[in-house]
Amino acid sequence: MESSVQIVDRPSKAFFLALGLLPLLWACGDDGTGPPVEVELPETGFEQRSGVEFTTHEEELAFLGDVDAASDRIRITEVGTSVLGRPIHLARLAYPQPATDGQIAAGPAILVLGTQHGNEPAGREAALQFLRDLAFAEAAGLPDAMSTATVLVIPTANPDGRFANTRGNAELVDINRDHLALATPEARAIAQVIRDFRPDIVVDAHERPGATTPDLQLLWPRNLNVFAPVQDLSRTLVQDHLFVVLPVGGLSVELYGPGPGPPGDENESILRNAVGLRHALGLLVESSGQQDPLRRVAVHQETMNSVLDFFADRSGEIVAAVTDAPGAKEAAGRDRTAPFYLFGADDNAPTPDQLLDPPPCAYMLSAEQVTALQPQISLFELRTEPDGSDVLLPMDQPMMTVIPLLADGRARGPQVSGVARVSAIECGVP
Ligand SMILES: [Zn+2]
Repeated sequence: MESSVQIVDRPSKAFFLALGLLPLLWACGDDGTGPPVEVELPETGFEQRSGVEFTTHEEELAFLGDVDAASDRIRITEVGTSVLGRPIHLARLAYPQPATDGQIAAGPAILVLGTQHGNEPAGREAALQFLRDLAFAEAAGLPDAMSTATVLVIPTANPDGRFANTRGNAELVDINRDHLALATPEARAIAQVIRDFRPDIVVDAHERPGATTPDLQLLWPRNLNVFAPVQDLSRTLVQDHLFVVLPVGGLSVELYGPGPGPPGDENESILRNAVGLRHALGLLVESSGQQDPLRRVAVHQETMNSVLDFFADRSGEIVAAVTDAPGAKEAAGRDRTAPFYLFGADDNAPTPDQLLDPPPCAYMLSAEQVTALQPQISLFELRTEPDGSDVLLPMDQPMMTVIPLLADGRARGPQVSGVARVSAIECGVP
């Protein structure tokens, strides 16, 4: 479902487009004869109050409406609603203007999410400023990435949690443990955006509420089922790019959750891993919530801009990896020569009982189980095949990366317990 942000009592887009002097917009007086009038760019509530209080929900709606109305480079729609009916917005940004949604899906895109955890507000504030700055920067000053890629921003992934300052949504469900189960409307909205826009990189902005240092902790998808080139480039983004450039700007950076096991683990219900399993580079960004709010917001915005630089530097490799991933995983599901990992991470080798080797060729599901998996079948684009009164979920498909995690009773959080088909006879191997 999509609907445009409604604007009332604001200057029209054409009004601003006729102007063009940036970063400040200028206009003649109302009658066209007076001296130039300086028109301020939209500011967040946080900026207006110099970081003393975060932007309110109402201020965010007005801000997004103002930015959308005043720049042709941005198109904002509602892509979902929270438990309590608050809108979840998606901004598309490109120069000179965003392509159609279908064209965006077919080309490179970088998705930035703010505030999946409502009590971690800095990512949202940074996302709002980031999208505004991209919408109004002088063309010569735009990041190189915007010459080829669309920038997508969901500034507030958990609007109810932000409103109430809670980690979870209005039902206190942690959205960032729901990217496999898809039980929350918020996680489903994110899954739908990933399905419909196929981002190449996903940046997920969080905070560590009790932490005073460092400025940032970062991590990539550690899940072992992520296509290796996608995982390698995600790791490269952190270790060879952000760990190098952010300290030059005076920021202290560390790995998130060092050492094997939680919290820096492979859990597929965490967005960082889920996007890797969906064939995009993933980046978790964690600021320290006890620092000055202005600094926390600035470090997130710096990271977002730095990710755009990485994309521009490595776009050939990134596009090749995310383009190759679906076919490579489909082939892996067909060939069954590599194990499937129910557990284990790139820093925590699985034990033999934690992997499926050889992996099943399919899972057999009852009609009831298929009904239970409808959100995943739709939002992960899973292919099913009828098999008598049952249904098969074959592994020879691009999203085989989630199938055993969803349908194998031995996995961490399966949604159903299907019957694995493994033997040569069951799998039709001659
Ligand atoms: Zn968080």
